[in-house]
Amino acid sequence: MLKIEDITAHGYERVVVFRDDYGFYCCIAVHSTKLGPALGGCRIFPYQSEDAALIDALRLSQGMTYKASLAGLNFGGGKCTVLADHATPTLMHQIGEAIEYLGGLYVSAEDVGTTVADMRIAAEKTSHIATLAASGDPSPWTALGVMSCITAALDYTSQCLSSVWIEGLGKVGWDLARRLHAVGAQLYVSDLRPELMAKAVEDFSAKQFTEDVMDNITLYAPCAMGQVVSARNVHSIRFPIICGSANNQLIHDNNAEILQRNGVLYVPDYLANSGGVINVAAEIGQIYERQSVNARVGLLSEKLWDVLEIADNQSITPLAAANMLAEARLQ
Ligand code: NAD
Repeated sequence: MLKIEDITAHGYERVVVFRDDYGFYCCIAVHSTKLGPALGGCRIFPYQSEDAALIDALRLSQGMTYKASLAGLNFGGGKCTVLADHATPTLMHQIGEAIEYLGGLYVSAEDVGTTVADMRIAAEKTSHIATLAASGDPSPWTALGVMSCITAALDYTSQCLSSVWIEGLGKVGWDLARRLHAVGAQLYVSDLRPELMAKAVEDFSAKQFTEDVMDNITLYAPCAMGQVVSARNVHSIRFPIICGSANNQLIHDNNAEILQRNGVLYVPDYLANSGGVINVAAEIGQIYERQSVNARVGLLSEKLWDVLEIADNQSITPLAAANMLAEARLQ
């Protein structure tokens, strides 16, 4: 039996915490439904505390609102975070019940710690799960979108694609590694899972990322967890381009200004990683058309160019420019 608690969080439409007597903790944050139902992934992660899971849901759901808005989708932003080591059928059923409780205000896809197969199990308890129809795993689309933004970022900075650091070789990072290897990049990789590291060495002649190759890296692609740019490291980062799939890469938005001053092009994470949500949205309430998704995700490079042009014209960061565009639709 789930215990349900509504939490008040300023600027959020609804935040609900679900618990049971055996340690289950799940938080669903609905940041905004102004443009449509709140769409966002379900993340299972061994957070250090319930508060950490709650804060992650808040940050990520707000990011989803901006992501959907900038991508021109009629969806809002939501997120489900669950404090656990890994998915099990029982856990997925509980998550399904929690999602069902919100009655469609929140529609869930998969995220870190969950797969489409896991979400299929959650769907035995709720009808508000996306990615189970034609659209499938969003990760390759997310990787395609990141790749499209990388192409624009290379053009904009007049950089050649040489050495790349991919942090995180999971669903998105692996597909991005495959794409970057195919166009001749030298890959430096890092992941907590040794088996993925070994496979990247074998499949892509990748090398393990170490601090001493830092100066040779043209592109840093964070594809693991967020918050990789903080007050601690922001002043020392000198990669010409940061463009990856991780959500919430900057701890504070003002890190974007420091990066810009130091000649680093930071591609707003929620623009770079919006390929997945564009794909998921294409199966909700309409017939999924793969070709149209392919075209839309490919056009993220043009969206980035628009953002860069605004940033240049107004002497602001690309992140501030992206926020402006996203907020304009939300007005
Ligand atoms: P995933 O769980 O499949 O992969 C994450 C990988 O990162 C794992 O292999 C894990 O071992 C590794 N990792 C974790 N902490 C690390 C660390 N400190 N250093 C190096 N490696 C580490 O997740 P994913 O679906 O590939 O998503 C990756 C990131 O992209 C997440 O931040 C996610 O929120 C974001 N994202 C994913 C999608 C998508 O379509 N899957 C869409 C938008 C954003």
